[in-house]
Amino acid sequence: MAHGWQFYMNPGPTNIPDRILRAMDHATIDFTGAQFRAISEECFAGLKRVFKTEHTILAYAATGHGAWEAALVNLFSPGDKVLLVESGFFSLNWGMRGQSFGLEVETLPNDWRRAADPAKLEARLRADTQHQIKAVLVVHNETSTGVAHPVPALRRAIDAAKHPALFLVDTISSLGSFDFRMDEWGVDVVVAGSQKGLMLPTGMAFTGISAKALAATATAKLPRVYWDWRRLLGENTQGYWNGTVPVHFFFGLQESLRMLEEEGLDNVFARHHRLAEATRRAVRVWRSNNGPETFGLDPAAQSDSITAVLVPEGYDADKVRQAALDKFNISLGGGLDRLRGRVFRIGHMGDLNEPMVLGAIAAVEMALDLTGVPHGKGAVQAAMEYLTETA
Ligand code: PLP
Repeated sequence: MAHGWQFYMNPGPTNIPDRILRAMDHATIDFTGAQFRAISEECFAGLKRVFKTEHTILAYAATGHGAWEAALVNLFSPGDKVLLVESGFFSLNWGMRGQSFGLEVETLPNDWRRAADPAKLEARLRADTQHQIKAVLVVHNETSTGVAHPVPALRRAIDAAKHPALFLVDTISSLGSFDFRMDEWGVDVVVAGSQKGLMLPTGMAFTGISAKALAATATAKLPRVYWDWRRLLGENTQGYWNGTVPVHFFFGLQESLRMLEEEGLDNVFARHHRLAEATRRAVRVWRSNNGPETFGLDPAAQSDSITAVLVPEGYDADKVRQAALDKFNISLGGGLDRLRGRVFRIGHMGDLNEPMVLGAIAAVEMALDLTGVPHGKGAVQAAMEYLTETA
């Protein structure tokens, strides 16, 4: 019998604050009425401030996979070529979906432990003299590796190559956790989800769409109905929605956006950075004694929303994750795809404070002990010292 509450330190979904749960605890209202229209307008206006865009944002009842798919089917025709910047499991998964729709998906290979190299992207686009590549797809924060990729520098690479490709960015685990700027960074399509930085339940997904991307929908030939941006924007819909509107999500989203803006986005980002840095300092302590290390190798590309921890060769990261769950009721993320059993992932995004991070570090250190993984001791102390210094 578990006591207390489950420490939720998975890199998504994340903890749902009481304020959001209370806001969703509401009688159903008519989604065609003025009350709902005001809520919806407040939500879309607030989302624009979080995406940092003046462009269109559309929402779906879906997980992030839906927004991935919406981006593909609205922009492309069978046989179109897109260039996927490899970053890890989620990037490859997005590309695999493109292949299923008959796109020619070329992967720009990249070491999963390192940030994508803008020079490599520029060189590849320069070589595409016929401009056959219709779009560049990038995952801003690769949730499977804990590496954050340099979206502004990748944009500059596209511009330096004078290439007209659309720029599609998955912000599912960065939006609302660390800096992202759709318009300033020249992003054409932003893919986002509800269950990470926005602190909502899983099940609402978003796309930010530039004017250039909207224009591309007119010639795209892939079949689409539910995801069709033209239908969602058309006059015959009930305002940006297909089907019954999940009003409770909007109650939650309204509260989430209010919370983010009350704290101030810059303060939200600073909080995530500090909690992430405390986590990284803890991992550095474990690293001594040939223990686990941070999977990401570039100091400047460490994600502020998730840390992937690589266990030493010969040890099983899943056992650590399982021991943490079974013995201490803390949920960590497991390794995905080729990282299965090699890493466990500590999520530090969303509604989180210092004691939660310290509790997680303590539980992980106990799980390392229980599973016999060699490691240095005293990670909580190191994290406490950093958090006190920066308080
Ligand atoms: N992209 C990234 C970067 C993710 O982290 C995830 C999920 O964790 C997805 C896409 C897929 O989103 P969902 O699980 O909401 O379908």
